[in-house]
Amino acid sequence: MMMMMMATTENEEQRSLELSGHVGFDSLPCQLVNKLVARGFCFNILCVGETGIGKSTLMSTLFGRTFENEEASHYEEEVRLRSQTYDLQENTVKLKLTIVHTAGFGDQINNEESYKPILDHIDAQFEKYLEEELKIKRSLFNYDDPRIHVCLYFISPNGHSLKALDLITMKKLESKVNLIPVIGKADIISKNDLKNLKRNIMNELLSYGVQIYQFPTEDEDVAEINSSINNCFPFAVVGSTDDVKIGNRMVKGRMYPWGAVQVENEDHCDLVKLREMLLRVNMEDLREQTHSRHYELFRRCKLEEMGFKDTDPDSQSFSLQETYEAKRKELIRELQHKEESMRQMFVNKVKETEAELKEKEKELQERFEQLKRLHHEEKKSLEEKRRELEEEMNAFNRRKVAADTLMGQALQGCSQQPLKKDKDKKNFFSLPSACSLTSGRNLN
Ligand code: GDP
Repeated sequence: MMMMMMATTENEEQRSLELSGHVGFDSLPCQLVNKLVARGFCFNILCVGETGIGKSTLMSTLFGRTFENEEASHYEEEVRLRSQTYDLQENTVKLKLTIVHTAGFGDQINNEESYKPILDHIDAQFEKYLEEELKIKRSLFNYDDPRIHVCLYFISPNGHSLKALDLITMKKLESKVNLIPVIGKADIISKNDLKNLKRNIMNELLSYGVQIYQFPTEDEDVAEINSSINNCFPFAVVGSTDDVKIGNRMVKGRMYPWGAVQVENEDHCDLVKLREMLLRVNMEDLREQTHSRHYELFRRCKLEEMGFKDTDPDSQSFSLQETYEAKRKELIRELQHKEESMRQMFVNKVKETEAELKEKEKELQERFEQLKRLHHEEKKSLEEKRRELEEEMNAFNRRKVAADTLMGQALQGCSQQPLKKDKDKKNFFSLPSACSLTSGRNLN
């Protein structure tokens, strides 16, 4: 009791807080803003359009600085996406800006597949974000968001409306990204032609059901400006980083023999409207729509593909553990099935090869037997010939011996009866054995 009394006396000197006073949680938005400003922001723009339509120039004009960009050639074999990141700062706000260009778009003879590398790039960025989200140790707050927040689709000012390539590509992109169509190099056609071109483009987009990004009208602060700009699609833009002298002012523009196009003059083009909508009013909505609409769709499809569901057929909610187990079992079943079919394939292949080898072996055996027979017959006939030759040789030798004997006898007779020489000589040459002896010698 004494202790309590002492404590009260000491506390009397401390300041007292009134319960009805200012608590302070209304500073939460400021805390949030400070935290976000300290961290900085990411904004990623994809520029789709044919080479030389003015994509790089427009980016430099929009951000008021020159972005070094390698000039694209018209001889690319396929569409390639080139991305570059810049660290920008305006007052205290830091912005990591990534600009992605489509090199070679519309330059091939066959443009059928031109949209594919673009879709693949957008999906690859979603995939990276999903991977980060699913990591055990993730840091999404500090993660540099790689997802494409807006796609500026550049339409050529030449022609009366959209090309087939434009329609196909825009239709494929509509569910993946916030799509904003712009007419590039709008200064090269007359005001009337531009008006007709804009009308034709919008009619065509409407009749093919191509969904383009709509500036939000729910927030009453921006509802008026956004709904009026929603009727200005597609933006007709002119880009330039050159300064031209108008009166005694220097402005960004393009100088022609008949006058100057001022890119920031709303009577000349829609660049200011585009900058206003894209960067000053709706940048956060573009980032938000990317996350809540396009990324969400990608994530849902991807997770369903991986076997995740929110509810089972009895509308019971699935636990992550159950889903994981079910997917694991399914994968094991698939693996076993694949293993079995591969084993079967291997066995069949071995059997086929074995049969082929046996067939070959049989053929070789037959060939060998045939050669053996031929060899045997040839040997036999050679033996026969040899035998005949030997017989001939023997007969010849016999005749030779007989002839030699006769010759010897004849020579002996001559020496004993010289008078009968001529007669005997005649007889000798008329002898058949003598003839054959002569012919035998000639033969040799
Ligand atoms: P990219 O290949 O689409 O990036 O096109 P570039 O921005 O490199 O521009 C190609 C050429 O067109 C350059 O010579 C630019 O000066 C010119 N160019 C860019 N924008 C415009 C424009 O709005 N109007 C006109 N007339 N020319 C432009």
